[in-house]
Amino acid sequence: MAQPITTITARFMLFMTVNCYLVAVDDGFVLIDTGPVGGRAAIENALLQAGCQPGRLKQIILTHGDFDHCGNAAYLRDKFNAPIAMPRPDAGMVENGDMFASRQPPGPIMKAIVPLVSRLPQADRFTPDAVFDDGADLAEYGLDATAIALPGHCRGNTGILTAAGDLFCGDLFGNLNKPEIWSLVDDAAAMQASAEKVKTLDLRLIYPGHGKPFTLAEYVNANP
Ligand SMILES: [Zn+2]
Repeated sequence: MAQPITTITARFMLFMTVNCYLVAVDDGFVLIDTGPVGGRAAIENALLQAGCQPGRLKQIILTHGDFDHCGNAAYLRDKFNAPIAMPRPDAGMVENGDMFASRQPPGPIMKAIVPLVSRLPQADRFTPDAVFDDGADLAEYGLDATAIALPGHCRGNTGILTAAGDLFCGDLFGNLNKPEIWSLVDDAAAMQASAEKVKTLDLRLIYPGHGKPFTLAEYVNANP
C-alpha cells in the first residue's frame, strides 16, 4: 500500500524552489531531503503541521549531497533526534561543504562563484550516521524502499524507490516547465544512462528535487 506523502517546498536563492518529502510510516515519519538553510522555519513548521513532532521523525534519508537538499539535515537530526542516511559517494560533500567533492573539478569561474552562492555553511556540515550503496534495502532505515544509484547530477545522486512504486529521484529530473533531465549536469553520459535506467522501472509517480511530481509516461512524452 502506498504511504501518504507530504510535499514540503522551500524557497532559496530568490527564485528557486526545492522539495522535501515527508513519508508516513508505521510508527512515525521518514523525511526525504531537508531543503536549504534559508527555508528552515518553513520546513520545521510544515513537519509539525503534518503531525511530525519531535519523537515522530524516525529517519532522514538524503537523495544526494547538495546544499539545497541537505541544509537542514544536521539541524533536524538534533531537533528531532532522527539519524541521517545518505548515498556513500556524497558523504564528502556534506562533511566539507564542498559540492565538487563528488563532481568533476570545476573551471575557474565556477570555482570562484560557487563558494559565494551554493555552499553548506560550516555550522550545518555533518557526518551522516549511515551511508548506503546502489541496491541497498532501506527497510533498515524504516522505509519500505530500495536505493537505486542514478548518478550524473553528482556521483551520489540516488533514487529512493518505494515498494508502492514511487520514485524520489533527487536531481536526476526536475519538473519546472516539463519533466526533464535537471539542468545541473556533472556527467552527461551518466545522467542519460540514469534516465534510461528509470525507464525500465515500474513506477507509480516520480517525485523530483525541483518541481511537481510526474508519471514516467509524462516524462517520455515530453522527451521523445
Ligand atoms: Zn537540487
